[in-house]
Amino acid sequence: MTERIREFLRKRNDEGPCLVVDLDVVRDNYNAFAKALPDTRVFYAVKANPAPEVLALLAKLGSCFDTASIPEIEIVLATGATPDRISYGNTIKKERDIARAYALGVRLYAVDCKAEVEKIARAAPGSRVFCRILSDCVGAEWPLSRKFGCEPAMAVEVLEHALKAGLEPHGVSFHVGSQQRNQHAWDRALASAAAVFKECGERGMNLSMVNLGGGFPTKYLKNVPTVKTYGNAIFKALRKHFGNRIPETIIEPGRGMVGNAGTIEAEVVLVSKKSEEDDVRWVYLDIGKFGGLAETMDESIRYPIRTPRDGDALAPCVLAGPTCDSADVLYEKEPYMLPVSLEIGDKVLIEGTGAYTATYSSVAFNGFSPLKTYHI
Ligand SMILES: *Cc1c(COP(=O)(O)O)cnc(C)c1O
Repeated sequence: MTERIREFLRKRNDEGPCLVVDLDVVRDNYNAFAKALPDTRVFYAVKANPAPEVLALLAKLGSCFDTASIPEIEIVLATGATPDRISYGNTIKKERDIARAYALGVRLYAVDCKAEVEKIARAAPGSRVFCRILSDCVGAEWPLSRKFGCEPAMAVEVLEHALKAGLEPHGVSFHVGSQQRNQHAWDRALASAAAVFKECGERGMNLSMVNLGGGFPTKYLKNVPTVKTYGNAIFKALRKHFGNRIPETIIEPGRGMVGNAGTIEAEVVLVSKKSEEDDVRWVYLDIGKFGGLAETMDESIRYPIRTPRDGDALAPCVLAGPTCDSADVLYEKEPYMLPVSLEIGDKVLIEGTGAYTATYSSVAFNGFSPLKTYHI
């Protein structure tokens, strides 16, 4: 929450919940990444917040971009960034989309199996590919499961397949899990990456790049280590596993680049109880899971919430959204502490909401408009 956002909200007279992103914070975050990992290129993960203002700022600062679809590639190109600054990092692509990306000039693709290699060999001949390896995501508050990546031993086969198909086996990628609060999580993944480099080397392939993925956290309720702490831990792990032959590296921060730049303003619609004896109140906001707060799924991400009555006595609340879907509850298993004095009509501020919110909001479920956004 910055003074600029506070000032903007004071003057706003629009109705309904909104997200305000302070671009100065995004700039500071980019500079912090560039400083903490000076030999690493930044590929901003566009899905975290694809607002044109965010992309234009990052393009101007020199960032590259990790994209997952043709529309994402197109909005990046619309900033004026050249296609050599774009990776098509989704491991699941239609062959015709690969062909379209190739026509747009993109030459860097992610794979995690031979079938995907074959599509790229046909639709984007001669391109560079990097193979994503599985990561256990221990320590991440938003783990990424086994959906992406393959075992390191298979990655060697996939990269060799790429070489034989006329592609350039460029390197290895992984993602240690989003909101990764342990800076040492990269160590194990880098051990696996180094093993793939070694085995590929023995087969005559000289890989040159390690994509360290995203995972850099943003501060919600708990403190998180600084970007510098992550930079130091990653550099140590690179030294440990690659000795003095440290490869070219890239990072793909999403949440860490924009999360703390955004604040959502919402309104209390109802405060109620299910019985007179109940000591847990229900607080209903005008935003919920379908309005942009999808990452409260399984109560994984717990956002800091400020109210105009902070400082008053606190009591536990179940926090819920406004729609008629019973899944639209934000925090119930672990109730949220809010002021007892909180009233209908109060405005609350939900912090750390610059990433993974606006584009997660539904088109108009139950007639509620998509989340309004302002990038200032
Ligand atoms: C989503 C995504 C990221 C960004 O992850 P964060 O945890 O938000 O930093 C990076 N790389 C890839 C391939 C992704 O899909």
